[in-house]
Amino acid sequence: MSTFRFQALGRATDRKPVHVEELDRKSAIFGTNVFGDKAMRQFLTPEAYKAVKAAADGVKIDRKIADYIALGMKEWALSKGVTHYTHWFQPLTGTTAEKHDAFFETSFDGSDPVEKFGGSQLVQQEPDASSFPNGGIRNTFEARGYTAWDPTSPAFIFGTTLCIPTVFVSYTGEALDNKTPLLRALHAIDSAAIDVARYFDKNVKRVTPTLGWEQEYFLVDSALASSRPDILATGRTLLGHTSAKGQQLEDHYFGSIPTRVLQYMRDLENECMLLGIPVKTRHNEVAPNQFELAPIFEETNLAVDHNSLLMDVMQKVAERHDFKVLFHEKPFKGVNGSGKHNNWSLATDTGINLLSPGKTPMSNLQFLTFFINTIKAVHDYEELLRASIASASNDHRLGANEAPPAIISVFIGEALSKVLDDLEGVSKGKLSPEEKTDLKLNVVGKLPDVLLDNTDRNRTSPFAFTGNKFEFRAVGSSANCAVSMTTLNTIVAKQLKDFKKEVDALIEKSDLKKDEAIFNVLREYIKKTKAILFEGDGYSEAWEKEAKKRGLSNHKTTPQALKAKVSKKAVEVFAEMGVMNHVEVESRYEIELEEYVKKIQIEGRVLGDIARNHVVPTAIKYQNVLIENVKGLKEIFGKDFEKIAKEQISLIKEISEHIEGINSKVEKMTEERKKANALTSTEKMADAYCDKVKPYFEEIRYHADKLELLVDDELWTLTKYRELLFTK
Ligand code: ADP
Ligand code: MG
Repeated sequence: MSTFRFQALGRATDRKPVHVEELDRKSAIFGTNVFGDKAMRQFLTPEAYKAVKAAADGVKIDRKIADYIALGMKEWALSKGVTHYTHWFQPLTGTTAEKHDAFFETSFDGSDPVEKFGGSQLVQQEPDASSFPNGGIRNTFEARGYTAWDPTSPAFIFGTTLCIPTVFVSYTGEALDNKTPLLRALHAIDSAAIDVARYFDKNVKRVTPTLGWEQEYFLVDSALASSRPDILATGRTLLGHTSAKGQQLEDHYFGSIPTRVLQYMRDLENECMLLGIPVKTRHNEVAPNQFELAPIFEETNLAVDHNSLLMDVMQKVAERHDFKVLFHEKPFKGVNGSGKHNNWSLATDTGINLLSPGKTPMSNLQFLTFFINTIKAVHDYEELLRASIASASNDHRLGANEAPPAIISVFIGEALSKVLDDLEGVSKGKLSPEEKTDLKLNVVGKLPDVLLDNTDRNRTSPFAFTGNKFEFRAVGSSANCAVSMTTLNTIVAKQLKDFKKEVDALIEKSDLKKDEAIFNVLREYIKKTKAILFEGDGYSEAWEKEAKKRGLSNHKTTPQALKAKVSKKAVEVFAEMGVMNHVEVESRYEIELEEYVKKIQIEGRVLGDIARNHVVPTAIKYQNVLIENVKGLKEIFGKDFEKIAKEQISLIKEISEHIEGINSKVEKMTEERKKANALTSTEKMADAYCDKVKPYFEEIRYHADKLELLVDDELWTLTKYRELLFTK
């Protein structure tokens, strides 16, 4: 009898790589399906083109012009065989949403069929949005939200649909999506950073945060994935004994990419090129069947859209190759999990990376200013930053043994640590001419050389400086980057605003020169923020102890971590920077807690189901085989059978113990779920699911995984780790 598992294995091992047509050169096809500059010049009137460009700087588009833009956009789309359009947005469910409408219209009697698309359809839509999470913002009687075009992110074609990036807000103006607060945070940091950048260059008119994400993921054959109810329902394996061979040989990392996977990657990269997603690198990651993809960095809003789009596209292209993409942070126990490193920096419209030292002492002082202010922001808001990456799935990674710890710290490397030490020694107030010369020559002046050969890397740091950018490494692989980027840009904006005030006040009340005042303020920051700097092994127990002494937070679970989102400090900083009002902050907190509860609830149900309906019956089947065997031995050997059947008898007992273990633990878990469900506040429910329900997962798994080792492989119904991880 062939079980589902063996059928799936048969299919998976028989697969041939899918041939991928070679498209034209990447540079030739890049952005072909994007309504970008080239298409706009071709399809828009000069007036309409100018209006879109100006909209990127916040100028409102008037209705008449919107009609012209829509017309051009439609013509472009129709020329490419497009039939439908959609407002593409990022609701708080963590995925993307789209509702397709056809361009096609007729009169009521069916005459005059025509393709139509006007300014009103472009600019604003009202999806039936009552079933998107809103955390109590919209009562059912005013369950209306609308999507509005975001002209800073270009429309694109996917399949036969024109996708128009949009924000999603309630009629009362509250953000219901991930993009709206992000755009506000980008605006906040732009204005705060301009003011500071002008200390160094009066010509700066715009500061743009840049983001380069690195997306890690697993690929599993789709037949094998479908044979595991846990993967289908939760994106991870809830059971499964670790495979004898895991990642210990380190033979996968940067190894040659398996052919089937390589074809998938080529196909995916082609799609990305057409969509204007500038993917650049691809390679194997540490765990078997784990891979990574990274683009060239972009302006943050676009980069966030591109990452969300990419995750969609990855899954769709995977279907053609009979793969399922796992974005979960920890799909498999015992091998590395996946992250999404967010490389972040600030760029000026004058072409300067503010986190890169330049050629002159002044530009190096500029670098130090932004560098130290970022450290200060992370220091002051470490809990909020931790909260921005909290999710049920990322809990498996943060604080676990091979990933960034749940403690936020900043790694800057030996050379820059030395620079900060030197700066700390600068005397208060006015600098003597000698001191100025020394600073110029030996500290600030040496920065470019210092950084040039600074190859210091610390893989254990959640927030590391890597030469000309910070890398926020603790972000989860399944996360929408908007959440962490909104937080990071908000807190740095707040910090830069405060810095500017302090420096100006100091210049005002003393006879200090500008650079002296800057040095003075920075020196105080260096003194105050030491607790957040850590150069050692972030995964060690010693660091946990040390961090506790330093007063750093260490929230290992989402319900714990999320509380910082609604602290007075958090509500204030979001309000002050114009990013979210307290209603928006609180509703998000509520939504994230709800999502946490639902995720754990589903995991609990699926686990109970597969433990009882797959594992236990299989174990009983095998136990019966053993019982028959013992009976037979008894028939043949009579009273001597006990010695001969000793192993079988002890196996029979062992199996019974584990079955009992599973049944009693599943029952207790179900009891706890019932109790949790009866609680009235979401906060209490989340705590209960975290502290009372979830701990049973490991206990149930323990027995199931033991049974997997005992039971005849032929009988086992659940596809095993070695099969999921090593089928290529
Ligand atoms: P590594 O850090 O591994 O040496 P790179 O320096 O090429 O590799 O950068 C890794 C990632 O950081 C890439 O995805 C890249 O797009 C991104 N990145 C590089 N520079 C910046 C920047 N100024 N702002 C944001 N992201 C950046
Ligand atoms: Mg990486």
